[in-house]
Amino acid sequence: MAQVPQHKVVLDESEMPTRWYNILADLPTPPPPPLHPGTGQPIGPADLTPIFPMDLILQEVSTERYIDIPEEVQDVYRLWRPSPLFRAHRLERALGTTARIYYKYEGVSPAGSHKPNTAVPQAYYNAKAGIKKLTTETGAGQWGTSLAFACAQFGLECEVWQVRASYDGKPYRKMMIETFGGTIHPSPSDLTEAGRAVLAEHPDSPGSLGVAISEAVEAAAGDPNANYALGSVLNHVLLHQTIIGEEALLQLAKIDESVDLIVGCTGGGSNFGGLTFPFIRETLAAGGAGPVIRAVEPASCPTLTQGVYAYDFGDVAGLTPMMKMHTLGHDFIPDPIHAGGLRYHGMSPLISHLVEEGLMEAVAKGQQDCFAAGVLFARSEGIIPAPEATHALAATVDAANAATEAGESPVILTALSGHGHVDMAAYDAYLTGSLTDHTWEDSELQESVAQALSRLPQVLV
Ligand SMILES: *Cc1c(COP(=O)(O)O)cnc(C)c1O
Repeated sequence: MAQVPQHKVVLDESEMPTRWYNILADLPTPPPPPLHPGTGQPIGPADLTPIFPMDLILQEVSTERYIDIPEEVQDVYRLWRPSPLFRAHRLERALGTTARIYYKYEGVSPAGSHKPNTAVPQAYYNAKAGIKKLTTETGAGQWGTSLAFACAQFGLECEVWQVRASYDGKPYRKMMIETFGGTIHPSPSDLTEAGRAVLAEHPDSPGSLGVAISEAVEAAAGDPNANYALGSVLNHVLLHQTIIGEEALLQLAKIDESVDLIVGCTGGGSNFGGLTFPFIRETLAAGGAGPVIRAVEPASCPTLTQGVYAYDFGDVAGLTPMMKMHTLGHDFIPDPIHAGGLRYHGMSPLISHLVEEGLMEAVAKGQQDCFAAGVLFARSEGIIPAPEATHALAATVDAANAATEAGESPVILTALSGHGHVDMAAYDAYLTGSLTDHTWEDSELQESVAQALSRLPQVLV
């Protein structure tokens, strides 16, 4: 009799990791420090207190290897964590591949993505510090939904600026944010100086994460009872996401499997860093032997593969500290591609640094390939992936096909960062053939990146 295949590896709630992993403790060289936007000098904790609570500022600069997850945060995590690890038997069969493919699925969370992993602790530490309201930006709406849910857990108000293109194209996220008790504005808005400045020049601006961040930061900085929360990019965000990789390590150990390749999508780098950092810890401890780690970004916003590694602002208005990162220029406005969560001009300084150190590699994929992989995955595994996550799947399919051709049978682990139930308009565009691909061969894209890069801040470091 054929053996019954095991599809998922689950952990009990009691097996959920109780510490986050801080990769800053183990890096061979530290990443360059963030710089003050006005003085150009390295920033200190005091520079961040107008918008962040001290607990998060200390996590941002901590070099402790492990940080305990507060009980109150663990309690909320257990609503959906530990998340399942699946073996993609049916996708493997559909591909006819010799590779073994696993995916760690974060779509089981309240928002349908990995983002509540950091929204919950951020809301918790702000509430603990006596803050009454959090402001934020959101691209596809995933982060706004996550933060609205998290604020509801700790009695905080939540005010969200959503990138105009997504606000118009994805109305269900707005309804979810409001259902969780948040308020929401399209960005650019006329509620802030930063928004009004963009509208004065481009009344029809589709917005960008960079603009929306400026608006949310400005609103928080001007209100002593409000703080700002960022859903990706920063060290403390990636720290909170490491629960994904810690769980995956436990799950793989349960089935005695070790991984050769890890593939994930990168917008600001948080789900990818969260999955991979604990694996990189093991690699560093083993003297460098470990899986290949591959970031996948959209060809229309190719931060890691075509950007420069330089100091830049996190937002359009230049209100945030300057961070050394792979960037396309802080005022680069990417095409309104369907994977809204990947439309950011910059990349996490930690991920950027790890790419520079050769501990990770990056590829870019066009959205046609991505949705083709997403549809194949939906039809074989039964989960409709978030458009962002289809980037990881497209690169996973490429790697599996290459392995089959080479007659190899590697173990591939991919990050399924969320489901696409609120992104069905994007699938509709793909299925009806109205999706356009913008790749680096597109001279308009190269020109607008060159323009934005010519306006990088001048930094003497
Ligand atoms: C926001 C989002 C991303 C991109 O953000 P990262 O910080 O790079 O993880 C990827 N997938 C989903 C489902 C998202 O919501």
